[in-house]
Amino acid sequence: MALFTARGQQVKENINRQKVDLSKVQIRLKQNESVKVRVLGLNDYVEYLAHSSFQHKIYTQPCVGVTGANCPLCTASKSGVEGFDVLVPRKRYIFAFGDMESGEIKILDVSKNQAKKLIADMEEYADDINDIAFNLKKVGEGTSTGYSLNPILKMKGNDQEQFDAFENAEVTDEYFGSVLVPRKEELQVKILHESGFPVEDFGMDLPVEEENKEEGTGIF
Ligand SMILES: [Zn+2]
Repeated sequence: MALFTARGQQVKENINRQKVDLSKVQIRLKQNESVKVRVLGLNDYVEYLAHSSFQHKIYTQPCVGVTGANCPLCTASKSGVEGFDVLVPRKRYIFAFGDMESGEIKILDVSKNQAKKLIADMEEYADDINDIAFNLKKVGEGTSTGYSLNPILKMKGNDQEQFDAFENAEVTDEYFGSVLVPRKEELQVKILHESGFPVEDFGMDLPVEEENKEEGTGIF
């Protein structure tokens, strides 16, 4: 029996399957912009713990501490080093919707207050989600930015067709698992170092720079 588990094309597929391109599945809207969605289920949202600090250029990412793993960002948040307390893990929420235009399930990553509003909107129309589509709209500015789900009272063009295309679509736990991708520990240490955190003082090893870094971006 061979000791390898996959070969060639299959290996490539296996590797790629685990990688979800977040930039493609994330719903990104400008102020007052909206997108037509189908609400696929009343429980299609998850809560997770996230670290983020805009000022440190540490963008929203899941805390790996919840799995029992060592989380350098948690360490930094508790370090007492000035300014890094903002990295304290906070609850965030990911909603999944059927994006009618692309025909794909897409996600929206929001804060607690934004989640409350979306949940309230979904519950208001709970009995109708199998019949009506919604405009998911970004409203408000700055810290009062939020999202609202407004029912589309009259479907036009191919709205109904796009809506029906999600008839059997389901958002699984695996789906949410695949979009919540933690950064690797060495990458977290690297961004902490770049943001001015004294990583060495807290026993964190900076990753050894790869040789021939300029030569390529990967094996594919
Ligand atoms: Zn953490």
